[in-house]
Amino acid sequence: MPARVLNAMHRPMPDIYAGELTEVIDEVFDALPAIAGTTSRAFVPIGNGHAGWEMALSNTLSRGQRVLVLDCGRFAAIWGEMAEFNGLQVEVMTAPFGFAIDPDAVEERLRADAAHEIAAVLTVHVDTASSVRNDIPAIRAAIDAAGHPALFMVDCIASMGCERFEMDAWGVDVTIAASQKGLMTPPGLAIVWAGPKALAAHPTADLRTRYWDWTYRTEEGPYYLRFCGTPPVPHLFGIREALRMIDEEGLEARWARHERLADAVRAAVSTWATDDGIGFTAALPEQRSHAVTSIRTGSIDADALADRARERFGVTLGVGIGAEPGTSFRIGHMGHVNAPMVLGVLGVIETVVTEIGGSIGGSGVAAASGTLAASGHAS
Ligand SMILES: *Cc1c(COP(=O)(O)O)cnc(C)c1O
Repeated sequence: MPARVLNAMHRPMPDIYAGELTEVIDEVFDALPAIAGTTSRAFVPIGNGHAGWEMALSNTLSRGQRVLVLDCGRFAAIWGEMAEFNGLQVEVMTAPFGFAIDPDAVEERLRADAAHEIAAVLTVHVDTASSVRNDIPAIRAAIDAAGHPALFMVDCIASMGCERFEMDAWGVDVTIAASQKGLMTPPGLAIVWAGPKALAAHPTADLRTRYWDWTYRTEEGPYYLRFCGTPPVPHLFGIREALRMIDEEGLEARWARHERLADAVRAAVSTWATDDGIGFTAALPEQRSHAVTSIRTGSIDADALADRARERFGVTLGVGIGAEPGTSFRIGHMGHVNAPMVLGVLGVIETVVTEIGGSIGGSGVAAASGTLAASGHAS
């Protein structure tokens, strides 16, 4: 979390009915469409990514409708579990672990649904467990090729602000993000962008409940209707500052920075890699996310590695998700990150692997600094 964002939040709480907060809220809502590449409005529930998932489902779908979940790690499947709990019929298409969803398989499944019983296709842009990135335009093209009318909903919780994403150009109907990853603001806000097709499905959706309801949150009246109650005041000051930082850096420059830093991480992992040790969870280079890298550790005990990194160096590695315990870890390189941070983390990992006598192919840190030097950029 950038100090600028934290400092913006650390202030006396103002009047929630008039004055400065009104301007902050307007600035935030005006800035949100651009970061998702859309002209559609955003809704901002107080909550985490799961809140965004629930808002998306409850505003557009009806009990008993079928949804097709495309999972390439863990997170879309969890969203599907929520959909099932909330009364939808859920069908999950699972990519082999470490691979993205195959758009041809999506097309085939949707063609077979001649009666158009599938009301929505749910997937993630980047799955944080596998660090695989789905090809969202290709999945859109598959839905179109099948001539299928399902809503297309994409979880960008791990990728928003880190990876190129263009909601309108890519034909996404609902996009979901949360404040605490690439958007550099403490956990507590979800963001849901609703495109025209999603808004058209909204009036007849019978999963609607009052707290999440888009109609209620757009009603004319005191601005606090947007939050169905008291606004999340400090978070609004925080995310306004984060959105200003994103604007100052520029989205294209941000995406390029994430790619450069991810390239440095990938150069390190490739160099560390051995047959019985470290390797990528995401099998194909073109499917590897620029926001997070999941690393399998083979014969090296990933939990011992993470414990040492934390206890000796104060570096917290992400626990592996979706794989056997102790067999993987993750490096988050999303949002407020720069080259010194990435080199620091890579240096700690290399030191710890060496200390615990793990199999290692060579100096990943040297490889990472090589790519950074060749890029000619400071961060
Ligand atoms: C983190 C994450 C979530 C869950 O977000 P919470 O804020 O923990 O509810 C969902 N999807 C993806 C892709 C994520 O990375």
